[in-house]
Formats: sequence, C-alpha cells, structure tokens
Amino acid sequence: MRLSSMPIATQKEAPADAEIVSHQLMLRAGLIRKLAAGIYSWLPLGLRVVRKVERIVREEMDRAGGLEVVLPSVQPGELWRESGRWDYYGPELLRFSDRHERDFCYGPTHEEVITDIARRELRSYRQLPVTFYQIQTKFRDEIRPRFGVMRAREFVMKDAYSFHIDAASLHETYQVMYAAYSRIFERSGLHFRAVEADSGAIGGAVSHEFHVLADSGEDAIVYSNAGEYAANIEAAAAPPPAHERPPAGPAMEKVATPNAHTIEDVCDFLDVPASSCVKTLFVCGDHDNEVVALILRGDHELNAIKAAKLPGIADPLQMATAAQILQAAGSNPGSVGPVGLGCLTYTDLSAANLADFVCGANEDGFHLRSVNWVRDLDETSSADLRNVKKGEASPDGHGTLEIARGIEVGHIFKLETKYSDPMGAKVLNREGKSIAMPMGCYGIGVTRIVAAAIEQNHDERGIIWPAAIAPYQIMIIPINLPKSARVREAAETLYERLGRQGYEVLFDDRDARPGVKFADCDLLGIPVRLVIAERGLDAGTIEVRDRRDSDSENIEIDSLDDYLQDRLAVSE
Ligand code: ATP
Ligand code: MG
Repeated sequence: MRLSSMPIATQKEAPADAEIVSHQLMLRAGLIRKLAAGIYSWLPLGLRVVRKVERIVREEMDRAGGLEVVLPSVQPGELWRESGRWDYYGPELLRFSDRHERDFCYGPTHEEVITDIARRELRSYRQLPVTFYQIQTKFRDEIRPRFGVMRAREFVMKDAYSFHIDAASLHETYQVMYAAYSRIFERSGLHFRAVEADSGAIGGAVSHEFHVLADSGEDAIVYSNAGEYAANIEAAAAPPPAHERPPAGPAMEKVATPNAHTIEDVCDFLDVPASSCVKTLFVCGDHDNEVVALILRGDHELNAIKAAKLPGIADPLQMATAAQILQAAGSNPGSVGPVGLGCLTYTDLSAANLADFVCGANEDGFHLRSVNWVRDLDETSSADLRNVKKGEASPDGHGTLEIARGIEVGHIFKLETKYSDPMGAKVLNREGKSIAMPMGCYGIGVTRIVAAAIEQNHDERGIIWPAAIAPYQIMIIPINLPKSARVREAAETLYERLGRQGYEVLFDDRDARPGVKFADCDLLGIPVRLVIAERGLDAGTIEVRDRRDSDSENIEIDSLDDYLQDRLAVSE
C-alpha cells in the first residue's frame, strides 16, 4: 500500500481524554475514531490488526474442533426471561422494544441464543460433544466505558459454546480450549498468564481468565513465586489465620479521638498498627434500605466479589450512603464500629481472630480500645471478605504470593447446566434417559487484544507491534524520492518484489521530509523499516531497522531476504 493514497491522519498530540497509552497511540496512529462514549470506528490500519487477531483466533478455534456460526445480535427478551437473566443482568443489558412493544436486547453475550439452537437441533448423545463459535459485535452498556476499545460499550468478541453428555466430556473440551487460548496469545506475541477466576454474570463454578500482563491493567493477578498457583485477586482465597485467637487483655476502654476519621488517623493518634484495628464498612442488603456491616482488619482491603456472594448482601456490591450509615450505627463513618450494631454483620476471618483491637465507638469523635470478641461483643458470622496480600502463603502450599497487573483478554467457563436446565436443552443419553446437557463457554475480547498488545508493546515514539498482528510488516522509506530517479526506481522495484513475495508492505511515497516519515513509521509500529538512499545504492547496501531496536544497520542488499525471514517469522 502506498501511503500517498492512504489518508492516514497521524497526530503529534493525543486528545486529553485518552488516559492510557494504548488509547492515546491508537488515536494518534489513526487506528480508531470515537463516535460516542465507548463506541469506536475502526479505520483501515486498525482494522487490519483486528483482522489478524481474528485470523489467529479462527484458526485455533477450527483446530480445536469448533464450528463457526453467526448468531443474531438482537435477541428477544423472552429468551432472557427463560434463563432468568432478564432481571439479573442489570443496566449493562441494552434493552429496547420493537414496533409491537416486544422486549429485545442487543446481545452482550450469547448463552441464551446458542442454548435455544441446541435444544432444537440436538437430540442424542451421538451428536455430542459439539462446539460452536462466532466472532461478532457485542454491546454492553458499561457503567464507565473508558480506555478506548479496552473497555468499550460496543466491541468484538469471539464467543464459543460447547455441549456435552457428561462432566468428563465438558472437562476434556475445557482443557482443549484452555490449550487453544494459550496458543492464541502465544501466536499473537503477547506475554500472558492464565488464572483461576470468578464467573461473574455468565455463571458456572469453574472458570479461568487469560490476562495480558501490563502495568495499566484493571485487574490484580496473584501468583505463587514458587508454584503453579495463579488467580484473579477477586477469586483468590485468603489463607486462614495461622494461630488461635489470643486471650483477652485489659478491659475495654472508650477514648476520645478528635479529628481522627480514617484508619491511618486513628493509628497515628493511638499509636497502634492498622493490623490491630478493625474497620467497619456498610453495604446495601438484599432488601430495600437494609444495610449489612462488614468488619475487616484495618490493614486489609474489602473484596467486593466475595462479599456480594454472601446471603443478605446485594449483588453487585453497593456501598451504603452516609445517611444509611448514620441510621444504622448512630454515628458518622469515621467513628463506626461493630460493638452494639443491630444490623446483619459479617466479620472477616482475620478480624474475627483479633484480640484487644481498636474500633469506632459508634459515637462521633470516639473509639474503643482493647475490644474483645465474646467478652465485649457477640461473635458474628465470619467469612473470607478480603483481598489477599503480597507475601502471604500461597494456597497451593508452595512459596508466597506476588501481585501483578493484568488485562483480561479471555475467559473460559464450565457452565454445567446453568442454561440447559432452565431452558430445557436436553438429549437422550446412552441409556435412553433425557438429560440437560452440561455446557462450557469461552470468550475472547478480540478488539481488547489490540489495545492490550499496545499496552504491553510501546515506547515513547509509538507502537511496537508483535510481528504476527502488525497492520503491515514492512515500511519502505525512500530518501529524496522526488529528485532521485535511482532511488525512485530502486524503491518501486523493491516494493513490487516484496509484495510478490507475500510481504505486507507500506511504501512511504509521500512528498514529506525523512524526519516526518521516520516518526510516522515509529508511531505506527511497523516491525521492519527499510530506508533507500543514494549512498546505499552506491555501496550495494540497504538500511534496515527493527522497530524494537534504536539503531539501524546497513546490510548487503542480497541478504535482505534472510533478514526479513528471520525478523518476520511467526508461528503458525
Ligand atoms: P470485564 O471483567 O473486563 O468487564 P467480563 O468478565 O465482563 O470483562 P466476559 O463476559 O468474560 O467479560 O467476556 C469475555 C471477554 O470479552 C473478556 O475476557 C474481555 O476480553 C472481553 N470484554 C468484556 N467486556 C468488554 C468491554 N467492555 N470492552 C472490550 N472487551 C470486553
Ligand atoms: Mg470475564
């Protein structure tokens, strides 16, 4: 492709509302343009990257035995009522009605639609197992669309669904998909990690997420420094306290703590570590205007996913308002505590193991010191409510936990019969008995991968595409093109030859200064830059530069083929 005929509008500056590097670079390089919040157009260069990711995904899904389908993006509300998700899914589901006032939604995912197909088409165990997949646009009315296509409202997903006769068959396909996902991210040239995960709104008991590791990732990934264990922090079980609760010490005492509103203030004021304090958080209950108290150690962080699973607590978790807290505790948030609370209360296992702790007195400006369970207040239900911390023992018994940031690019689930049961997707098994089919489902954020790849591969000059997903592999930059007939001829010949050899080549034949061309080439992240100049032609050499390196080198023109083969090799 000649750059002179491609109206790419690269930009020096990123728009102020682009917070993360990938979003800035995608806009600056002209890969995407925003239409509305969380809704983006893909321009030619960006679309080429999407297509490359899709191709890798499609090849691996086919290799794993998947059958490609395309399901409608507009789905009848009726189906979602059958599965029970019309009410459960919440405002992320974009709902509307047609001219007959029938409910519809724009598909955020397709379990209902595929289960409807399965219950119509599948009759016998002989047709199983089967895996269907599609690559398609989804819509989720995200509460905070941000970071460009990373957390968009409209995005492209590959979703696959498998149907089985029993749990063993589901497990087998799950393993095949796990391996296929690993190959997809490997082939895409990304550093990734598979982790145990929470199943969220999709459901099911077992699930794994695949994360591209990058500092800007929205998720915290925990992993053992010595063993195999890796999990999303949302799903990582906290180790139970290592020792028995110590015996109670001195009597409970009320102390004035003027102007101490946070755990840090209180710890400073009373000169105690945060691990000897408890904090009390209030969240919304299942029923109108009810609140539930959550008690954690002062140095621990609430895990919203774990808490929302407990009976009596609203899912997704929602913090109570200041007015609700005042009503439940009789004081403002800075002075609340568990002693004398009347509402449903859960205590984290570590907080339940404390003796002689500090907590709010439920009276503004006061705290209690040397508080002890049983003696000073009743024990409550206890549960694992907190995030694990770096340095804690790994649950697999090997080593301690490390924490890294990750971008979730894929998620696989064992759904079991969550959809086939309520929707009646049944087949006859070997014994002639009708059973609901266990299911698996497997999602990949195709457009998110593009942003995640940039997040992981860039420098101050621009994108550094992994070769397998670069929009073009090679950029030819001629120096002094308008004036030098030799340069023009050599560049044209090379452009034509490399194209014939099957390379994807951009030819910067614009009438622009070399500096401008070099900067654009770096911004666009093209893996190999070839510079053609008079001096090189005299010497029989060509200047090559790998986007990952800072320096260029001159190589014999005859060895160019070897260089390209070596540099642009991708695994199939
Ligand atoms: P997240 O936790 O990031 O909101 P999710 O767990 O809701 O994602 P899944 O239902 O597991 O997402 O969807 C499968 C894949 O689709 C995700 O792993 C992710 O790569 C992609 N995806 C989900 N939501 C978005 C979004 N808003 N924008 C872009 N990609 C998305
Ligand atoms: Mg997910």
